[in-house]
Amino acid sequence: MIEVDRKKCLRCGGCVSVCPATALTLTEHGITVNDNCNNCGICVNFCPVEALKRGEK
Ligand code: SF4
Ligand code: SF4
Repeated sequence: MIEVDRKKCLRCGGCVSVCPATALTLTEHGITVNDNCNNCGICVNFCPVEALKRGEK
């Protein structure tokens, strides 16, 4: 599961668009991750401010 650093996140929404599993959502509280996440890392590589990182599983 991906972890979001909400202090870094710009809420640009780009990671929502690149996720192939539709696991990311941009809400009023920032990016949230759901159980669809398969830890592929595409969003981690995409984020321009390194606000995303891979979690334990
Ligand atoms: S790409 Fe990065 S900065 Fe943009 S919404 Fe996603 S986590 Fe936030
Ligand atoms: S790691 Fe892959 S599946 Fe999980 S949120 Fe990022 S792009 Fe989507």
